[in-house]
Amino acid sequence: MPGNGESQVPTGQLLIDGEFRTSETGASFDVHNPATGAVVSTAALGSVEDAKAAVDAARRAFPAWSEVPASERGEILQRAAGLVLAHVDEIARIVTLEEGKALAEARGEVRQAYATIAYYAGEGRRLVSNVVPSDQRDKLTFSLRRPLGVATVITPWNFPSMIPMWNICPALISGNTVVHKPASFTPLTAFRIAQLFVEAGIPRGVLNLVTGPGGKIGEALAQNPEVNVLAFTGETMTGRHLGEINARYLRRQVLELGGKNPLIVAADAPLEAAVPSALWSAFSNAGQKCTASSRIIVERPILEAFTRAFVDAARKLRVGNGLEPGIEVGPLVDAGGLEKVERYVRYGQEEGAQLLLGGHRLTDRGRDLGHFHELTVFSGTNDMRIAQDEIFGPVTEIIPADTLEEAISIANDVRYGLASAIYTRDLRAAMRAVGRMAAAVTFVNHGPVGIEVQAPFGGTKESGYGRELGEAGIEDYTEKKTVYLDYSYAKQPWYYPWS
Ligand code: NDP
Repeated sequence: MPGNGESQVPTGQLLIDGEFRTSETGASFDVHNPATGAVVSTAALGSVEDAKAAVDAARRAFPAWSEVPASERGEILQRAAGLVLAHVDEIARIVTLEEGKALAEARGEVRQAYATIAYYAGEGRRLVSNVVPSDQRDKLTFSLRRPLGVATVITPWNFPSMIPMWNICPALISGNTVVHKPASFTPLTAFRIAQLFVEAGIPRGVLNLVTGPGGKIGEALAQNPEVNVLAFTGETMTGRHLGEINARYLRRQVLELGGKNPLIVAADAPLEAAVPSALWSAFSNAGQKCTASSRIIVERPILEAFTRAFVDAARKLRVGNGLEPGIEVGPLVDAGGLEKVERYVRYGQEEGAQLLLGGHRLTDRGRDLGHFHELTVFSGTNDMRIAQDEIFGPVTEIIPADTLEEAISIANDVRYGLASAIYTRDLRAAMRAVGRMAAAVTFVNHGPVGIEVQAPFGGTKESGYGRELGEAGIEDYTEKKTVYLDYSYAKQPWYYPWS
């Protein structure tokens, strides 16, 4: 039975060939509120046959959709954007109920989902290609952008409205058809947004949604030879596995994976900005962000002042049910996430890191029903497991550095390369860090979070393969066809016969 405040949440269905329906087996699964443990609603438990039916529907819909003028496709996306904007509060509530983040944060996320749809709607009138000079007279050489076919988009739970849009929208505007497989913790947000796309007029089969376990549904989608491009956002291990399957099919792919993101606080950093920014980037969404600043590297002259201010401010943040007013940080998404945090707190202590704040699960005031953990701050070194592994929770480590050079080399001494950041008043130092930090994104005087849809985003090293967003999103979902147009109607000297 749905618990308090959860009664207006929809029951999640599949969307296959324009029809919202249950799984062909009729099975469903419960969706839980990570703050209370209550069942929020249920969602259709898709089967391997459902996954195949979705790809078949997308394949059938592709020829007609690819021939719709891109500006018309854009108008459908524009209507979908308007509907998402009109339903921000409703969708944000679903996000908080199934994912846990504080409601205000969920609203911000859904607005970013809207911005992504609106941005790519506009791309319908900007799918420009290029003309290249020809070697011959009366000949025009140019390229056309062609869609790839069926795009499979597999997404995680931590930004259940925004991340799917990062891939679904560029795929659709470029003329591809889509099968979306959202994370099993958050099927309802995906379902509600799919409903709005249908209301906006997306033709049948163009957007399909299959919910169910990744190991079965995601795997079946990846193993389907009819899929032409696969976009995956999630853990590095899953991404590597899918990358191997994609290689077998010689298929286009975009992989957005884990991160262990450094935030350098230089000796001259303005603490009044650096501290709140570091707090937000470390603890928003309970640290469950691929871009979370889980390593804060601080130059020694400012170490004591920064640490004191950061720990004092973190202590004051309110952790609880994201639907309650005043709550700033929600729970972990499930018991597994909470146990992982506890395990890493243990590793930190065993390896000699100093626990400055937190370190325990929260069980008072009804929080034992959910998956709550104290905001946790360690002081330690970069070789510890808490500095090297993605914990995906409200845990960050402060690491001292003697010089900026040392801070940069600590920043790079990790297998991930997603986001990075530096706080400094010295532009020369900032630009040196920009040049040398081995991460695909560097923020200056801003924590490593706050991705904007119009700029490319992705990871180096084990954080990913390829770039998404902005123009890169269009590149991901199109290939160029070169056209040689000879309007001379002439017999060239090298044509046969030569005499
Ligand atoms: P997972 O890799 O566990 O899951 C991601 C998605 O893949 C889910 O939909 C999941 O389904 C599905 N999946 C799981 N196993 C398979 C499989 N064998 N074949 C196909 N699909 C599968 O990641 P999480 O959901 O736990 O997300 C957290 C991770 O995502 C973190 O590592 C984080 O850093 C990363 N991430 C990266 C971002 C980036 O842009 N670089 C952005 C956000 C998150 P199911 O839920 O049913 O298991």
